[in-house]
Amino acid sequence: MTAAATATADGLGRMSVHHVDQAAPEVLLSRLEGVQKAGRGHRARCPACGGTSRKLSITEADGRVLIHCFGGCETIDVLQAVGLRWSDIQPPRHWPESPEERRQLRRAAREAALITALPELAYATAVVRLAAQQLHRQHALDEADYQTLLKAEEIIGNAREFFCESKRLGVAHG
Ligand SMILES: [Zn+2]
Repeated sequence: MTAAATATADGLGRMSVHHVDQAAPEVLLSRLEGVQKAGRGHRARCPACGGTSRKLSITEADGRVLIHCFGGCETIDVLQAVGLRWSDIQPPRHWPESPEERRQLRRAAREAALITALPELAYATAVVRLAAQQLHRQHALDEADYQTLLKAEEIIGNAREFFCESKRLGVAHG
C-alpha cells in the first residue's frame, strides 16, 4: 500500500501539497482499460489517443513511474485523461518541473518501453512461425490459436509505432 501525505497547514498557514510518498503505478493502472502484464511492466489502451491497441507502456524503475505512449502522447495528457496529476503517482522528488527534467523523464520512459517491447517482439515472431508451420501442414487454426496470432500482430504493430516514433523524434540517431 502507498501511504499518501494529507494536506495540512503548517504554523504559517501554508498548505503542503497532497502527494504519494512512493511510486504508485497501481493508481494509474486502476483507471486504465485493457491492462496486461508485459515484461517488468504493463501495457494498456491509451486514454488520451484511444484506439483498441495497447499503446501505453507503464513501468516502474528507480522509484519512478515511467509512462510512454507509442502513439506519441505527452505523459501529462495521458494522466489528465484519467483525472490524475504527477503528485498522484510520483513522490515530489520525481515530479518533472523543468523542461530538462521533462525531457529526461520522457527519454527514460521511452527506453523502458523499448526494453519491454523487445521480448514481446521475440514472442510475436515465434507465434507467427508456429502459425505458419501449422497452416503449411494444412491444420486450420482454432479460435485460441487465432486469438494468439492476433495478439502477435498487435505486438508487431506496437513495435512498428515505436520505431516510426523514434525515427520522427530523431532518437534512433542519438
Ligand atoms: Zn496516446
